[in-house]
Amino acid sequence: MEELKMLMKLQGIDAELDKFKKEGVNKEKIRLIREIEANINKVKGELTGKEERLKLIKKEIKNCENQSEDFAEKCRLYRVKMYSGEETNSKELMKLEEKIADVTKKTDAIEHEWTQLSEEADSLEEDIENFKKILRTLVKDYKREVEDYKKAKSQREEKIKFAREERDKMEIQIDNQLIKRYNQRRMQNKGVVAILKDGNCNGCGMEVSSEKFSSVSKEETVQKCDFCGRFLLLESNS
Ligand SMILES: [Zn+2]
Repeated sequence: MEELKMLMKLQGIDAELDKFKKEGVNKEKIRLIREIEANINKVKGELTGKEERLKLIKKEIKNCENQSEDFAEKCRLYRVKMYSGEETNSKELMKLEEKIADVTKKTDAIEHEWTQLSEEADSLEEDIENFKKILRTLVKDYKREVEDYKKAKSQREEKIKFAREERDKMEIQIDNQLIKRYNQRRMQNKGVVAILKDGNCNGCGMEVSSEKFSSVSKEETVQKCDFCGRFLLLESNS
């Protein structure tokens, strides 16, 4: 009977190992990690795009400022010429006036452009800050999920290793013939040991004969269920 009990335990361990095999690695976790990874790449792409745009805009702002300075200098020179009294030709004076008006118009346009560019730069800087914040959160999530996954994986491997060791230890203590039969039935996906409870085999649910019941109760010989072929172990013995 001790052997049947061990066989029962073996059956339990194998069922557990089957479960581990069936469950496999945590697919849901892997899917989540991949998803975070994709999001990180997306945010990184956006961030790079915005940073490049900001760099360009800052250059354009600098250009505007340079141009604005040039125009101011030109305007100053025209005015000096105009009011110095050097120029007396009225036609030339009119030309100078036109030039001043033209430069003033250009200055207005460049200042308008500068304002627009500056506004865009401000908004880009804000976006960049936000994207960096999102990125930090995502990276934190990613690290945590990977850590979780690794932990679960190593726990699973530990459990499998332990179950296998238990299994090996048990196997050498059980009669060879029993093991052989056990392995054959397992190959056919059939249970090997069942509990005899209230006169019924708990493997198939059928009622065993009273002769068989008393034989199992007396622990005379190893008995099999007539219906499913499982070895029968008395409930009180299990
Ligand atoms: Zn049965």
